Amino acid sequence: MKQVTETVYFIPGQDEMIPDSHVYLVGRPDSHDMTLVDAGLMGKGGYKIQCIQKAGIQLAHIKRILMTHTHLDHIGCLGEILEAVPDAELWVHVEEGDLLEQGNDQAVYGMDMFKSMCQAQYRIPAGAFTFQVHRKLTGGETLDLGRTDWEVLHIPGHSPGSIGLYNSQEKILIPGDTVYADYAIGRFDLFGASGPQLRDSLMKLATLKVDILLPGHNRIMEAVPPGYIEETARQWEPYLS
Ligand SMILES: [Zn+2]
Ligand SMILES: [Zn+2]
Repeated sequence: MKQVTETVYFIPGQDEMIPDSHVYLVGRPDSHDMTLVDAGLMGKGGYKIQCIQKAGIQLAHIKRILMTHTHLDHIGCLGEILEAVPDAELWVHVEEGDLLEQGNDQAVYGMDMFKSMCQAQYRIPAGAFTFQVHRKLTGGETLDLGRTDWEVLHIPGHSPGSIGLYNSQEKILIPGDTVYADYAIGRFDLFGASGPQLRDSLMKLATLKVDILLPGHNRIMEAVPPGYIEETARQWEPYLS
């Protein structure tokens, strides 16, 4: 686990055949009010919990798990993590939060073929991704997460309820799977995805001043060049209409 800034820790995902999302632990440790952003793939909760304990952070201080979106590589081990932090709340954008509460896993698997493959390979029972959501986000909120302020941005396109978290003071963006390093963007062919929405969401993110980009996969960027997201959107524009 790496401390990126005073208020954000980075736990890298451990990809297998299917990727495992990165997890970020947000908040000032002395606030005892920490937030986990995303969970990861099935079987990938245990080592993340160990990383947090090794860094000297008490699990009881993790007050909530906030999902950038509910794809399998982000939510697969949510159940494992909730076993370790049973009192933590679950915060999700309303569009995917409603589905989770109904036990509708369309936004988890993204497509039927992938669902049957994963259920067989990982022995996932039907209805495994039914969760109570404590707070449904809409975008536009400013959240106080352990004495740091984060703006919630609804950035659909990769998935219908994708959200980004932006800290304007430290110029940190956690964009989920919407934009990555190396001018890469999230796929837009799964359930509820949309190329034009993804383009609009990228343009919305491009208006932010971002020094540190903490995406859901691949490398993180700790010195983002000015105009990076705008340039990424420009390169992908022909494919997003
Ligand atoms: Zn995703
Ligand atoms: Zn992902």
